Amino acid sequence: MSLIKFLIHVILEAMKFWTCSLLVSVILTLTSCLSVVSVDEVPTLELTRTATTFVNFPTPAPLLLPTLTATPLPPTSTPVPSPTLVSLPKKAIQLHSPLAEHSIEQLFDIVSSPYDPPPPGDDARHQGVDFCYYHGEERDFIEGEIINAILSGKVASSQAGKFPYGNMVMLETAYNELPEEIILGLDIQPGESLYHLYAHLQEAPKVALGERVEGGQTLGQVGKTGYNIVVSHLHFETRFGPPSTVFKNMARYYADATQEELDTYEFWRTSGTFRHFDPMDLFSLFVP
Ligand SMILES: [Zn+2]
Repeated sequence: MSLIKFLIHVILEAMKFWTCSLLVSVILTLTSCLSVVSVDEVPTLELTRTATTFVNFPTPAPLLLPTLTATPLPPTSTPVPSPTLVSLPKKAIQLHSPLAEHSIEQLFDIVSSPYDPPPPGDDARHQGVDFCYYHGEERDFIEGEIINAILSGKVASSQAGKFPYGNMVMLETAYNELPEEIILGLDIQPGESLYHLYAHLQEAPKVALGERVEGGQTLGQVGKTGYNIVVSHLHFETRFGPPSTVFKNMARYYADATQEELDTYEFWRTSGTFRHFDPMDLFSLFVP
């Protein structure tokens, strides 16, 4: 009886062991299966991702490239040359000689007293240039030679018999009427005007203050009116300064000069508001 019990017990124990090992083997198989699945899925996902990115990239690229190269080419090529060609002839303003019987080039041969500027604020020395000659081609002496406006403008001063200029005309040429050669060659500030003054005329000027004058228009004849003038000549001054200035009454060096005349003269000559320069620098810009 005890032998039978023992055998039953052994069989039962063997069955327990087998069940346990079976369970363990089942669990092991399951976990190994799960781990294999999870490892295998990663490359599959990556492959599909890379596959989708390859599909996405090439689509927008060819759309951008043709539009970038096609648009900028036509606008740069067509409009640039046309405005440059149109604007240049409009700026080609002619400079006239102030003396009717002399070209701009010939002026350099008849300078009798050159520009000799004083220190700033000083009225001494020579703030312009004098033209004078003997034995010219058409006349023996400069007296009576026609004086012309070098550029178009308006009359900024018109004086009769006042010292020191005598009979005198001053013209203002506005910035937008100046030849490009003068603006670039003499470093004119935008908006500044060129003032040009013709002194010692034979007769009182016939142009009035504010009147419009064309380039080449006659202003009078060379004479010897004014302060301490012994020999007939043209005294010519050039200055740059603020636009639309008018010099109504302007005089100095005589006893009856009014305060207004003295102040206006000082404003033009020594205030520093109007920068004088050698008129021959202006003419040299137009000598070939
Ligand atoms: Zn002079």
